[in-house]
Amino acid sequence: MAAVQEARTGDVGSRVPQTRPARRVLVFPLPFQGHINPMMQLADVLHGRGLAVTVLHTHFNALDPALHPAFDFVSVADGIPADVAASKSGNIIDIILAMNEAMEASTAVDEVLASVMADEARPRPACLFLDGNLLAVQKAAVRLGLPTLVLRTGCAACLGGFLAFPMFYQKGYLPRQVSQLYMPVKELPPLRVRDIFFSVDNNHEKVRTIIARIIETVKGSSGVVINTFEALEAKELERIRRELDLPLVLAAGPLHKLSSTTTGSSLLDQDYSCIKWLDSQPARSVLYVSFGSLASLSSNEFLEVAWGLANSGHNFLWVVRPGMIRGMNGIHLPNGFDVAVEGRGKVIQWAPQQEVLAHQAVGAFWTHNGWNSTLESISEGIPMICRPHSLDQTMNARYVAEIWGVGFELEGELERRKIELAIRNLMSGKEGAEMRERAEDLKMKVVECLESSGSSHIAIDKLVNYILSL
Ligand code: UDP
Repeated sequence: MAAVQEARTGDVGSRVPQTRPARRVLVFPLPFQGHINPMMQLADVLHGRGLAVTVLHTHFNALDPALHPAFDFVSVADGIPADVAASKSGNIIDIILAMNEAMEASTAVDEVLASVMADEARPRPACLFLDGNLLAVQKAAVRLGLPTLVLRTGCAACLGGFLAFPMFYQKGYLPRQVSQLYMPVKELPPLRVRDIFFSVDNNHEKVRTIIARIIETVKGSSGVVINTFEALEAKELERIRRELDLPLVLAAGPLHKLSSTTTGSSLLDQDYSCIKWLDSQPARSVLYVSFGSLASLSSNEFLEVAWGLANSGHNFLWVVRPGMIRGMNGIHLPNGFDVAVEGRGKVIQWAPQQEVLAHQAVGAFWTHNGWNSTLESISEGIPMICRPHSLDQTMNARYVAEIWGVGFELEGELERRKIELAIRNLMSGKEGAEMRERAEDLKMKVVECLESSGSSHIAIDKLVNYILSL
């Protein structure tokens, strides 16, 4: 293949010439579902704009090249020790630290990058998009003179919170004290201490290290692309742009709405039987319940959720991921549950979530508020019951409830009666109806940002022009 080719023009519009030498972008996602999805969506958007794509990926949670025939794939040794990798769905923080440490101690990443850059059979790489958690990879790219851009898979408020982390310690908000959880962080409203990024194992030092490394990765790059949109987080974006002295700080989301629907990057098989089932349900009648790819429940919480759903009387589609229930091998629904929910409840192991949320039968989402899930819900005008688990989820839930008004948090112990009332409140109560209306308004803002004159479309134009200038 020649180094200079005719590029695919796609929907590039007038800002980009119809034919031009193709350039290549490299992308390196963090190997977790919530990070893989937006990176692959961004890759798909850039590919649609005429850029060739090479995906670098780890052995851990390796991607399936067959699902992305338009991209080249290169595998990179991640060096994650077997005992750390064994907690696959468990401690993401330990895995990130171990992977970076192993990559920094070896020359494997430099060698892979050097060989990809020297590959004359493919268009010359313009830059490397990497997850903010991959400082080791960014350092290798810098050594080789390859420009990097960070894709932030969380919201802008989350990046703002990361930038403020040293201040949280200086002002005594962190390390978090149980007695101060509801204290407002007056420098960053609407946050309270409990909304600041945290790990369930409460390991402050590891969290502090991870966040400092993310900021170093962002600051050492030519720019950052955030999977959000201007109208959703105008103030937060303004603050970030003020604080980060970078040529590019782009809000280019929701990326799943900009990318083609054929880009599958699910690590688990998505059960499409639920779409047929949803087809048979009345409009806006179904509560979709999913806690993402990492969050877990105790076996008692699992029982309470099951009976809360059953007793609510509402229709539901519930994702119970293998390994999601701590201490339980397999998925054992309680006796009598199947009969109690017959015809109105469906339990599956993994959903085609974006299609589910876009389905006319879905009326609300009970979510753990991972950023992708939150943004996917906002994109479809679906109000939320928020049950954040850890990391940035508490912050996302706070914004959903307090700033956007499209959901409320279910706090404290999970109890069936509380769950039942929360579901009724959102599905058929007055408060729920108001949240649904606000969610519909936000959905319209998503539609606007995706139009050719919309902010996210323009952000992608700027990004492509920047890449072509490299
Ligand atoms: N997802 C999915 N099927 C499911 C549950 C989740 O495809 O049954 C996808 C979802 O659409 C989202 C990602 O997995 O893109 C989860 O990312 P998120 O940031 O919401 O949470 P995380 O898994 O990182 O905690």
